Amino acid sequence: MSAPKNPEAEATALLSRLKLDKNLPIRVESVAKALGVDIKYEPFDEDLSGVLVKEPARTVIGVNSSHAITRQRFTIAHELGHLVLGHNGDLFIDKTLRSQAVVVRRDGKSSLGMDADEIQANGFAAELLMPKQVIAQKVAKTLEKKSKLTPDKLVQELAATFRVSQQAMEYRLTNLGYLIPS
Ligand SMILES: [Zn+2]
Repeated sequence: MSAPKNPEAEATALLSRLKLDKNLPIRVESVAKALGVDIKYEPFDEDLSGVLVKEPARTVIGVNSSHAITRQRFTIAHELGHLVLGHNGDLFIDKTLRSQAVVVRRDGKSSLGMDADEIQANGFAAELLMPKQVIAQKVAKTLEKKSKLTPDKLVQELAATFRVSQQAMEYRLTNLGYLIPS
């Protein structure tokens, strides 16, 4: 077994290698394309966010096209995380609730997705869409311009800049220590 990969470090390295870490919002579809991954947009049931299908000849990510764009971007980044981090499985089915992820292997065995893999894929997605370094620069710049910004407004502005949901941005800023959990 290979050493477990660090999700954040993998995402940072990938963005840097592809030179996609300079312009916002991060072009997650270009990351997929560079990795040879096809993206299909389908109006899945509400509770299905996305799937990752690893076939011998190709890899496909299916995204729920009825979800908000910000959520679709996070789903793509999450599925790329499963791929890049080499999680064991050939079909990943991600439901709205993280605990409901299902992983199917080629031998037909399926299992509930391992919680650790889901947490890793989310960590990868957060860094891919909201790189720590870029967040640091943007927070500093935004507060420089508007020192009286409320936390809510800061979250709103950065969510729009990075094209992620306000919920995802709030969680990210809290994790990075910019916001105090309410
Ligand atoms: Zn997943």
